[in-house]
Amino acid sequence: MGLIGLLVTVLLMILALGYFLFGSSDSVMTINNETPSETMVGGLARYEDAKNQALDVKNLVEQKVAEEVNDDVSATADPLKTGQNKENVKQETGEKTDGIKIVNRLMASGFAVKEKARAIDTIVLHSSYNREGEDLYSVSGVVKEYESYGVSAHYLIDRAGTIYRLVEDKNIAYHAGVSRMSDGRENVNDFSIGVEMLNTLDGQYTEAQYKAVNNLIAYLKKQYPIKFVVGHNNIAPDRKTDPWNFDWKKLK
Ligand SMILES: [Zn+2]
Repeated sequence: MGLIGLLVTVLLMILALGYFLFGSSDSVMTINNETPSETMVGGLARYEDAKNQALDVKNLVEQKVAEEVNDDVSATADPLKTGQNKENVKQETGEKTDGIKIVNRLMASGFAVKEKARAIDTIVLHSSYNREGEDLYSVSGVVKEYESYGVSAHYLIDRAGTIYRLVEDKNIAYHAGVSRMSDGRENVNDFSIGVEMLNTLDGQYTEAQYKAVNNLIAYLKKQYPIKFVVGHNNIAPDRKTDPWNFDWKKLK
């Protein structure tokens, strides 16, 4: 092949590549307004292959990053599925926030996801225990129970006073159910934070739990204009009796 022939071939290849990469502009249309030739289809297939390989690498990198985030979670919390809350897990897990330690143990269900912060002025205290299994105060046991009922709370305080975050504050946790405040507002879930404490129907709370719930309330009051701290029994008196045996005098 002569030099000119070679140059023409190279030029045609460049035009063909341009056609596939940037679509059919008028200038390249003149050289190819028919069905693409075998060579061009092959070229396109190779281009697609290269693109897919690049995407595979990208996905692999993203997956790797996600795994490392999960490793961080399991170091301080149970390796529960974190669902759509994953992006916030790494920065907050097990860190001391304003002097209190909150362990992330984000649930995958039992709440409504909200994109933006919502107006919060109420804290609702609850109590619950693990009705199934041997350990009445098993955190995984009660969380499993919440999941089976499609409910949740934002925080759970275990017997040792450890505070677990189950749902992000911005999301609406399903903890209050049909409910009504003394000021007449209903659907208390919409504007409240739900706090569960592990205790049985006739049991007492530990001192560590009182300390933790006071710290948690103080922490929440710094972030939201909290006007009410109520019991579940106050807002759903016909249905609910929790927080069982809670000594309200011990709230600061
Ligand atoms: Zn309750």
